[in-house]
Amino acid sequence: MENILRDKVDQFRKKIKGKIVLPDDPNYDQLRQIWNAMIDRRPAIIVQCSDSDDVSQALSFARENKLEISVRGAGHNIAGNSLCDDGIVIDLSTMKNVRVDAGKKRAYVQPGATLGDFDAAAQAHGLATPVGINSITGISGLTLGGGFGWLTRQYGMTVDNLISAEVITADGKKMRASKKENADLFWAIRGGGGNFGVVTEFEFQLHPVGPEVFAGLIVFPFEQTKSVLKQYREFIAQAPEELNVFVVLRQAPPLPFLPENVHGKKVVILALFHPGDQARGEKMADALRSFGDPYGEHIGMMPYVQWQQAFDPLLTSGVRNYWKSHNFTELEDGFFDTIIEYTNKLPSSQCELFIALLAGSANRVPANAMAYGNRNAKFLLNVHGRWDKEADDVTCITWARDLFKATAPYESDGVYINFMTEEEGSRVSSAYGSNYERLKQIKKKYDPENLFHMNQNIAP
Ligand SMILES: Cc1cc2nc3c(=O)[nH]c(=O)nc-3n(C[C@H](O)[C@H](O)[C@H](O)COP(=O)(O)OP(=O)(O)OC[C@H]3O[C@@H](n4cnc5c(N)ncnc54)[C@H](O)[C@@H]3O)c2cc1C
Repeated sequence: MENILRDKVDQFRKKIKGKIVLPDDPNYDQLRQIWNAMIDRRPAIIVQCSDSDDVSQALSFARENKLEISVRGAGHNIAGNSLCDDGIVIDLSTMKNVRVDAGKKRAYVQPGATLGDFDAAAQAHGLATPVGINSITGISGLTLGGGFGWLTRQYGMTVDNLISAEVITADGKKMRASKKENADLFWAIRGGGGNFGVVTEFEFQLHPVGPEVFAGLIVFPFEQTKSVLKQYREFIAQAPEELNVFVVLRQAPPLPFLPENVHGKKVVILALFHPGDQARGEKMADALRSFGDPYGEHIGMMPYVQWQQAFDPLLTSGVRNYWKSHNFTELEDGFFDTIIEYTNKLPSSQCELFIALLAGSANRVPANAMAYGNRNAKFLLNVHGRWDKEADDVTCITWARDLFKATAPYESDGVYINFMTEEEGSRVSSAYGSNYERLKQIKKKYDPENLFHMNQNIAP
């Protein structure tokens, strides 16, 4: 394949401003690495696009040469769909510009920006919009799948804050998608993933946040988990929506505020976020502390951008990962018993169970308002299998799958597509529920040949 394409690649190189990287390039191995070390693929060609015209040219080249296509934002997706074998990677990771119009409270974001890039630019004006909790995640994949984070209870999903996007469709055309222009495409990209084209710019609504917020961790002994979780459930049901609290079950990392003899012990952690009022934040923290006898805590006022990076050390790239996820409208006692049982069997020091709280603004959007339709999801469980050695693959994956099965009786419908590691049979269609048929119709219109299928695929 390489030889057949060489001449054509030389021609293509002349048409774009970005870089073409081939397997014999010294950077090739570095550029084909993504966050999840389980994914090891060898594309025939990586195109580091520098603008939307490059994207359009790359798509033409791929079509003409019948190449498999994958699209890479920041390469953070757990399923690893941003990399293909033998095909072309449309790599957007150097298109990272974020422009903020503080007067209009809008951000115009290129698709290679990470959450860290985005937060830094918006926070320079004391602004933000809901995005995820790990700053090296890409804005692109996160937004196209839905997107949630600490601000979601107050301001909804990331897609609820998307105003418009520039999209290069499968035929290479540049289109604007918004409520007024190509409204069907706009409906579909707000949750439908990379199925409908390559987004080359996102326009977001911003909100005043921080720049200082009240946030931190309270760490309880594992023996107190059931009691902590029951009190959490009651407290959250009446807590104000600006407060967000996620729960993590895992072995205690060597955090400096924990006594050394706690490091490595199983713990339950409450991670709390309150946007900026110390007195009210302290009141919330007092209530959470009273759920048990904490081993320790690290809580206080800090820059929002700092809190947005707080989990980065536990979520570095280059480690093996396998995830499973459920949505929940209620947290039942049986669910608590099951997750406690499986935390007792954690197969590695890095595996964890993560419960995110979504209840609030995101639940008030009608399920058919856009492709992302999991509007009754108030909580989300991420079974995060994570480990270092290939030899541990089977043990860790089996643990994640078993836990996923054991918690299935308590789930509500739908699933967050951004947390799916692999094709799970009919799970893509159930992720979209009653929106799935409309998505198929829109796919037929914009990508009838399913050129974009390296994703949680919606076949036309
Ligand atoms: C450690 C970690 C923490 C996370 N935390 C959160 C969280 O708090 N909240 C949350 O909502 N999600 C979270 N996620 C999930 C995250 O939203 C997805 O992994 C997301 O896909 C990452 O985006 P990316 O651009 O880096 O992905 P990539 O791997 O680059 O892309 C993923 C897929 O998206 C599509 N795609 C990417 N860019 C484009 C584009 N510009 N146009 C068209 N299609 C495109 C392609 O199909 C591609 O295969 C987390 C993931 C990880 C690994």
